Amino acid sequence: MAISVFDLFKVGIGPSSSHTVGPMRAAYLFGSRLHDTDLLPRVVSVRCELFGSLGATGHGHGSVPAVVLGLTGRQPHLVDPVEAQPVVAAVREARGIALAGKHRIAFSVDRDVVLHRTRRLAFHSNGMVFTARDTAGDVVERRAYYSVGGGFVLDESETGDEAERSSTQVSSESVIREDTTPVPYPFASGDELVALARTHGLRISDVVLANESAWRPETETRAGLLHLWSVMRECVERGTTTSGVLPGGLRVRRRAAELRGHLEAEGAGATDMDRVTLDALAVNEENAAGGRVVTAPTNGAAGIVPAVLHHASRTVPGFDDDAVARFLLTAAAIGQLFKRNASISGAEVGCQGEVGSACSMAAGAFAELLGGTPEQVENAAEIGIEHNLGLTCDPVGGLVQIPCIERNAVASVKAITAARMAVRGDGVHHVSLDKAIRTMRATGADMKVKYKETARGGLALTVVEC
Ligand code: SF4
Repeated sequence: MAISVFDLFKVGIGPSSSHTVGPMRAAYLFGSRLHDTDLLPRVVSVRCELFGSLGATGHGHGSVPAVVLGLTGRQPHLVDPVEAQPVVAAVREARGIALAGKHRIAFSVDRDVVLHRTRRLAFHSNGMVFTARDTAGDVVERRAYYSVGGGFVLDESETGDEAERSSTQVSSESVIREDTTPVPYPFASGDELVALARTHGLRISDVVLANESAWRPETETRAGLLHLWSVMRECVERGTTTSGVLPGGLRVRRRAAELRGHLEAEGAGATDMDRVTLDALAVNEENAAGGRVVTAPTNGAAGIVPAVLHHASRTVPGFDDDAVARFLLTAAAIGQLFKRNASISGAEVGCQGEVGSACSMAAGAFAELLGGTPEQVENAAEIGIEHNLGLTCDPVGGLVQIPCIERNAVASVKAITAARMAVRGDGVHHVSLDKAIRTMRATGADMKVKYKETARGGLALTVVEC
């Protein structure tokens, strides 16, 4: 199995990994492809069509500006969140865009980015088709891309689906083309992971660190992990010092800064669980505001891993840089299992795939820092997902705000509880992590489409927007 920790944890901007980061990356890839194949000079128009969940909730999830930014040659991990809005506004006003940052063409955001609310591509719910034309109106290039969760993007050539353009057929398959880099400790299930750790006398984090060394030196891996930690801390700091109302029209008030003030006033009276809640709210408010976050493993669920890691930094004796690395590596091991054997996409399996996966990852990672054995880590991860099974995705107004922000806070506390329960046990338990992940996948397949990031069911229906 070859999914890197840096595939699961990526720096990007909010509000959604699948609906913001993925489309931006796809648009960037399309522009780069035109450039790399020398087709760019022939292009006079570009049209981007968004299908499925992207078409249904793209407006609320910032997919349209993400596409515009990607077409200008900007990438999610590099774009400055502060410049993003002005760039899109300038494209709107000028009715023109510098494609791939190099080739100026006429472009109307409202006309050339099309959201199909009820059509979807067969391969995946989050499909996109980009079409470039020349002066005669002939197609210069047309390409389908799929945002398959957590900011992962597949080109149509990676899906065996090149003929697919506009089917309405539903597919629940998540086909991930595996990196074929040989790693020293390949694993495809939780059972295999625990067995590897046991056989070689390793911790879960050691297994992943050894595997990461197949891609880069250990020093680079450690430096990359500390960079992620620094982005997480900056995100919490911004989130706990910024007030106001979140964008999108729901007029949701940011609460983290005010809560921080209350907790500081309470001093020793505030519990660390209050801080956990604060940190998760801060990250997800930043995400909802289009700020810089670490996908963990998605943007909608980006608050849980940082909130639990912050908790560990305050409560685990001897917490240091190595503890940061071990936490993120262990979380990545668990995230790989969800990505490989089920899904981390709300559009595919509902929120259990986002918040559920993140809760499981954080629970297992915290269990390792608490000194848990591989069996206890697996147990913690299983508890973390078991009590999120069936969780639907029903964001009000299609915005990653309600229920997403509070849900991260609750799941963070749940992850800590799961870890503490697990390390006080002996690792023996009835439901294995593998069975829980299989259950999540089956539940997601049974779940009606209206509960899978379409904003057509649940709270999205019962809460009246004003
Ligand atoms: S409800 Fe869950 S899956 Fe849906 S947008 Fe919110 S965090 Fe993501």
